[in-house]
Amino acid sequence: MTAILKNFIGGEWVDGSAVTRNINPSNTNDVVGEYAKADKAQTEKAIAAAKAAFPAWSRSTPQERYDAFNKISAEILARKEELGRLLAREEGKTLPEGIGEVARAGQIFAFFAGEALRLTGEKGASVRPGLEVEITREPVGVVGMITPWNFPIAIPAWKIAPALCYGNTVVFKPAELVPGSAHALSEIITRSGIPPGVFNLVVGSGSVVGQTLLDHPDVAAISFTGSVQTGRKIAQACVLSTPMKKFQLEMGGKNPLVVLDDADLKTAVEVAVNGAYFSTGQRCTASSRLIVTAGIHDRFVEAMTERMKALQVDDALKAGVHIGPVVDQSQLDQDLRYLKVGQDEGAKLAFGGELLKRETPGHYLQPALFTEANNNMRIAREEIFGPVAAVIRAKNYEEALAISNDTEFGLASGICTTSLKYATHYKRNSEAGMVMVNLPTAGVDYHVPFGGRKGSSYGAREQGSYAREFYTTVKTAYTNPG
Ligand code: NAD
Repeated sequence: MTAILKNFIGGEWVDGSAVTRNINPSNTNDVVGEYAKADKAQTEKAIAAAKAAFPAWSRSTPQERYDAFNKISAEILARKEELGRLLAREEGKTLPEGIGEVARAGQIFAFFAGEALRLTGEKGASVRPGLEVEITREPVGVVGMITPWNFPIAIPAWKIAPALCYGNTVVFKPAELVPGSAHALSEIITRSGIPPGVFNLVVGSGSVVGQTLLDHPDVAAISFTGSVQTGRKIAQACVLSTPMKKFQLEMGGKNPLVVLDDADLKTAVEVAVNGAYFSTGQRCTASSRLIVTAGIHDRFVEAMTERMKALQVDDALKAGVHIGPVVDQSQLDQDLRYLKVGQDEGAKLAFGGELLKRETPGHYLQPALFTEANNNMRIAREEIFGPVAAVIRAKNYEEALAISNDTEFGLASGICTTSLKYATHYKRNSEAGMVMVNLPTAGVDYHVPFGGRKGSSYGAREQGSYAREFYTTVKTAYTNPG
């Protein structure tokens, strides 16, 4: 066992009050590492350090931020194989997916290096004679970041990079299951020349570290990604705190993929398999509702089950594996519960759903496909967050669109069709923040906005230049030059 890895507070690596371990979900005998857990007092120290560092960092030059971000980006990209391996070992994504996620984090920091140079204000004419009006964007202050386990490097990167880029200081609380990825990313950030206190890492539980961030008056804003259930608590706490906190919430999904009669069958199957099952279905954008029109339904189900037979489910680090393990026992229990719920509701388990034995003891679940599902079933309405998808038959495009929008969520949606007419209509009428045509719901770029509608997202969009809405506040200043 290696040394206990520490928290980063006020420019120093510090011990915690307890220790947490992360376990490799591909091999539960493999302890990935041990990490110091911060308590309430240490979280308060991190907030105080971030507060003290804010005035100077908020006035740092764009060049200083640009230089630091380029260093961070270069190191992440140079170490993407090593960090991708750590991520795969800790979270269970396959190695290529892990490396891809790490590369994305590097690209995000490179994007925000450039973005630091692009933040300028506006000067406008007043409607009143002789007066001047200026509109500037200022940083918000200390931002608390509360992140989930399923993208343990990319999601923190897409919050930390814009926060620092626009002059805020940060207290980062990663999810309990993935302290290793958080620690590795934090180490790189601390080596970039960013002054002490600007960035702080506090590993710990939602109920202690998370709650301290929510309760503290010196935290000006909270950027959260996670479940709807936690998101609601966070919204409530931010609104009730004094002073009120700015907040943004990225939450769950029950994302539809519509497959029309005129779709290219091979494309539709690849899009569905990737969207529903890659990353073990543990993506907020996973397409867990496959809405298929009557003319292609039977051919689609047959081709899907054939394709699913060829999916290799095994240790995330093994070459050629398509799908790694479920992240932990409690998520596996949830997946199994929903497999039973689906069958009890009358859906047919057309493929998969069995626990698999592999060389190493891990949480291996054969990806599952339900057919004969309808959109009122719990398996079609609730986020399962595992490799479980349900096929819902629709009479025609119009019914498919209605089913697609009949959900409390609105993160990502997709359609497979060769018709420009239906593709265009769907892009305009799908009630989702991100719409894909002949592409999996799950692959997104790093330079454009990411986010959804309804119960999936609340507040400003993340990523790309749109991130500045959340991480800055607008000031309008009037001058009478006399
Ligand atoms: P979660 O809500 O259980 O936890 C998310 C974070 O919130 C963790 O860091 C946790 O410690 C913290 N937390 C929990 N209770 C808290 C409290 N009372 N106060 C403060 N912090 C608290 O979510 P998870 O299981 O880690 O992640 C899976 C969920 O995340 C899924 O619902 C998924 O759809 C969602 N997700 C959404 C997006 C998106 O961008 N929309 C991306 C990835 C994941």
